[in-house]
Amino acid sequence: MAWDFSTEPEFAEQLEWVEQFCRTEIEPLDLVFPGAAYSRDPKARALADPLKQQVKDRGLWALFLDRELGGPGFGQLKLALLNEILGRYRSAPVIFGTAAPDTGNMEMLAAYGTEEQKRRWLYPLMNQEIFSAYSMTEPQGGSDPSLFQTHAVRDMKGEGADGAGEAGGGWVINGEKWFTSAGARADIIFVMCTNGMFVVPGDAPGVEIMEYPQLHNHIRYTDVRVPGDHLLGPEDGAKVLAQRRLGGGRIHHAMRTVAWVKLAFDMMCERALSRESHGKTIADHQMVQEAIADSYAEINMLRLLVLWTAWTIDNSSTREARTQIAACKYTCAKVLREVSYRALHIMGSLGTTNLTPLQAMWASAPTMAILDGVDEVHKVTVARNVLKGYQPHPGLWPTEYIPAKREEARKKYAGLLAADPDLEAWADHAARAMARGH
Ligand SMILES: Cc1cc2nc3c(=O)[nH]c(=O)nc-3n(C[C@H](O)[C@H](O)[C@H](O)COP(=O)(O)OP(=O)(O)OC[C@H]3O[C@@H](n4cnc5c(N)ncnc54)[C@H](O)[C@@H]3O)c2cc1C
Repeated sequence: MAWDFSTEPEFAEQLEWVEQFCRTEIEPLDLVFPGAAYSRDPKARALADPLKQQVKDRGLWALFLDRELGGPGFGQLKLALLNEILGRYRSAPVIFGTAAPDTGNMEMLAAYGTEEQKRRWLYPLMNQEIFSAYSMTEPQGGSDPSLFQTHAVRDMKGEGADGAGEAGGGWVINGEKWFTSAGARADIIFVMCTNGMFVVPGDAPGVEIMEYPQLHNHIRYTDVRVPGDHLLGPEDGAKVLAQRRLGGGRIHHAMRTVAWVKLAFDMMCERALSRESHGKTIADHQMVQEAIADSYAEINMLRLLVLWTAWTIDNSSTREARTQIAACKYTCAKVLREVSYRALHIMGSLGTTNLTPLQAMWASAPTMAILDGVDEVHKVTVARNVLKGYQPHPGLWPTEYIPAKREEARKKYAGLLAADPDLEAWADHAARAMARGH
């Protein structure tokens, strides 16, 4: 029997450990020292590094990477089950070595990097010795690659930014990028140019971080020189690399969203049982019950869509699963919007403050519908790919036009109808009765 919704006991045990570790170690760190897990401050590292070591000792570090690259090689389905827990806690992804934007960049390096590029950037990224950013979106062109202008030309003059390139073998990059997450603190930035994906040191001369926005940076690249070996993958291969990078990231967002909406749901149910209004507990009011029932169904629909997609990736590839991944992306934004709104609403005035996670969760729903590609683009992908499996119907009537189908079906019984007047009358009567309904 191939359908199976259970988790194998050894992995279920790991999940239990993760749940408890997050509750007893990561949540207190987040509440008292927010940002410590991301900080380079030695005191912050002294708090976070032992937690990272515990994760490594459990064999759970960098769990999105295959075994040969230093991860546990769990695959996407197990990662989805883990992310259903990690997604609740702000620092959990970095403490488990799975924080964006580094994860997507590491996947790209793992897939397209030379041995030397992996040694120089992938392994230090995995160990969080360095941090990275991904510079694709442009101020004038959003994320439509046909509008991108950032371009690299071959450097005929000299060495690249870190002086490691061969004379004359490097590149000079010019352009402007928008909303590069964590760009200001990145050691290396993956810059998508019209003619290739380049790795640019964050401190290279000509990399200029604009004052705003502060978390997702606006960056100008002016005559930035990099050595020839800072081109990742083939020349003109940036679009393929970008797809590889973003495909994985989108399903990871959806996995973490399952964690968020489950948290919102838990808060909604607890509150509904805890308050009274107009003579009953809130949970006894039918409209509150409707909010709970709808949320329950929507969360489980999203969860099953995400798990099925993760399973599909494990059994084929990210490319094969691209229609499902696109569906996960806009569905997770929608379920996040609906469920966090209901939970906030049931929390009443308290829900509108920042004293619970609900306000921030609801405010992040529009962001989820924009980052890694706006909903509209993913819906177009799904519709186009799904339509490839269909054909227009020949003639005037759709395939399921019942009178035509009945005529066709009568041919199967032609002998019987001709031989038995009772059966013929029955069939004629049924056809007339149906016609009268219209
Ligand atoms: C939190 C966050 C983090 C991000 N991090 C990064 C990052 O690290 N690196 C990076 O390069 N980028 C990043 N982005 C940028 C992100 O990829 C873009 O914001 C996104 O692709 C949309 O581009 P835009 O903001 O220019 O919006 P636009 O492209 O201007 O779109 C605006 C609106 O126009 C409509 N629209 C646009 N295109 C279509 C279409 N094809 N069909 C129908 N309607 C359409 C939609 O309503 C859409 O919401 C991040 C964005 C967010 C919100």
